[in-house]
Amino acid sequence: MKILVIGGGGREHALVWKIRQSPRVTQVYCAPGNAGIGELAELISLAPDNIAGLQQFAQQKQIDLTVVGPELPLSLGLVDAFEKCGLRVFGPNQHAAQLEGSKAFAKALMQQQGVPTAAFGTFTNLEDACRYIKKVGAPIVVKADGLAAGKGVFVCATVEEALAAAEQIMGERVFGEAGHTLVVEEFLQGEEASFLAFTDGTTVLPLASVQDHKRIYDDDRGPNTGGMGAYSPAPIVTPTLAERIVQEILYPVVNGLRERGVVYKGILYAGLMIDQEQVKVLEFNVRFGDPECQPLMFRLQSDLVDVMEAVIDERLADVSLAWDTRPAVCVVLAAGGYPGSYETGQPISGLESLRTWTNGMVFHAGTVKTDDIVVTKGGRVLGVTAGGADISEAIAEAYRAVDQISWPRMQYRRDIGRRALIRSR
Ligand code: AMP
Repeated sequence: MKILVIGGGGREHALVWKIRQSPRVTQVYCAPGNAGIGELAELISLAPDNIAGLQQFAQQKQIDLTVVGPELPLSLGLVDAFEKCGLRVFGPNQHAAQLEGSKAFAKALMQQQGVPTAAFGTFTNLEDACRYIKKVGAPIVVKADGLAAGKGVFVCATVEEALAAAEQIMGERVFGEAGHTLVVEEFLQGEEASFLAFTDGTTVLPLASVQDHKRIYDDDRGPNTGGMGAYSPAPIVTPTLAERIVQEILYPVVNGLRERGVVYKGILYAGLMIDQEQVKVLEFNVRFGDPECQPLMFRLQSDLVDVMEAVIDERLADVSLAWDTRPAVCVVLAAGGYPGSYETGQPISGLESLRTWTNGMVFHAGTVKTDDIVVTKGGRVLGVTAGGADISEAIAEAYRAVDQISWPRMQYRRDIGRRALIRSR
């Protein structure tokens, strides 16, 4: 089989790495990829939002399966365009992708389906939004409706902050059209967890539990990032809780969409707030999380290509997933300054010595090879992912590898997996 993977982050490196393990796969292409992916796949310099270019490439090369990593091409209708010309593709269509692409769409669906989520209001008028904020009071959360590169959510401690956030999003349109509609939401307390499942529109097949670390600094301090690390399994998601999430959240969403004529195929990712017995949905994503994908792919023993094909052919009821029982931990190494402005082009040292690492894998995110040297090219640069007999060994193994890697102003968290470690004691 010939596979095309779209994207160029740590998530896509993990997907390519896993796909390459399938005995059915003969050739993997990745657009645009990165230096690490370039060792496993042929890199194609097409941007993930260049739908026409990607479609032309897939037709020309007679690609058997296209796997979409990031959300943007899904929201832009890549799956619809590919399916129209008979290409097989893993991911939800444009209508279904609104679950992530429009927070108002997701909230309305959850409300109609009785899925637990924060109380909210949806507004297309700034004065109405401000009136609602003043009525509800702080703390309160203000969200741009559309995709805003993970920056469109403001958790506000005071009414003044919330009014300023609403003004920025809707008045000044700092996120462009993503701010056409505002969602204002009740502030939820608790611990965040991610829950991912494959679905073919009828069956929901959960992945192993996983939890990420969103803040830039240790002890969950500092601004939010794309994710500074992740670990799997996540002890907070007990088997009983997992079953409740599947029955009370994922099935109602998938069934609700099907009742509206939309068959959701792909990964459905619920971002959750867990407070003792109470679970509420913060958001849905319509693709693998990054870095959550790295420890998940590291632990997945099933053939990923088989599972993805079962999703496309609506045969997921016949599939079960096999997991390595050993935990895995991914520590993200980021450029100094991230999530603010940062330098690129820094040569990375220490990668060579980890080529033969047997208990882990260095997944690349923002890297590029220039003159045979791997240099930094993004905020999140590497995802150092390791397995161990228990969570404490996985953490130690990952940080032993981290110690071998460096570049000027590299930064990373030193407490990845600590929450899991505390719970496992
Ligand atoms: P979202 O993209 O909607 O998941 O929001 C990004 C981050 O904002 C989440 O991971 C939470 O840390 C925080 N957040 C979002 N909604 C809420 C809420 N209703 N209450 C508390 N924190 C929230």
